[in-house]
Amino acid sequence: MIRLAEATRSRACVPMDSPSTLSSPPNAAAPGVALKVQIVVIGAGQAGLSAAYHLKRLGLAPHKGFVVLDQSPGPGGAWQDRWPSLTLSTVNRIHDLPGMSFSEVIGTDSPEVRASVAVPEYFAAYEKRFELPVYRPVAVKVVCDRHDHFRVETDRI
Ligand SMILES: Cc1cc2nc3c(=O)[nH]c(=O)nc-3n(C[C@H](O)[C@H](O)[C@H](O)COP(=O)(O)OP(=O)(O)OC[C@H]3O[C@@H](n4cnc5c(N)ncnc54)[C@H](O)[C@@H]3O)c2cc1C
Repeated sequence: MIRLAEATRSRACVPMDSPSTLSSPPNAAAPGVALKVQIVVIGAGQAGLSAAYHLKRLGLAPHKGFVVLDQSPGPGGAWQDRWPSLTLSTVNRIHDLPGMSFSEVIGTDSPEVRASVAVPEYFAAYEKRFELPVYRPVAVKVVCDRHDHFRVETDRI
């Protein structure tokens, strides 16, 4: 539930699908579930997973301290949508995520496997090994500046 005091405090909100700034959130009165966390990472691609890994190493508690919200149906970030002919033999190398190499999960003896299959498999194993709190599919719609914190609106929570 969004608290009225918070909803009426008019501060800048940024919709995620447009660079423009709104003066008030579009769904300020809409009912929902409010969760308080210290840090919200938007997106579980290479950048988001790397950030989550380091947040955990810094001592933030998964779920209560930080969450990762990803709008995709499964792990892999943009790699899920790579074209079928892009294989492990034709990619310009896949950069390792911190703490766990690609080769630990995907054997080097299968160069013809699709990148759109191998990388999501790698990311899924990574999320599991480090028990990263990835919530999906959750699309972030608006981020609002509330002076001493941000309010993140999603299509789910
Ligand atoms: C055509 C092409 C070929 C490439 N080939 C290679 C290659 O061979 N080797 C290589 O190392 N790199 C390659 N790259 C680069 C690589 O794909 C990117 O560097 C990498 O995917 C960037 O990771 P990222 O985490 O920043 O973004 P992404 O991988 O795009 O991940 C972002 C994630 O955030 C989610 N997201 C976005 N908006 C929201 C929102 N509002 N709410 C919730 N979730 C959201 C997305 O669904 C996605 O899961 C290529 C890129 C392109 C475009």
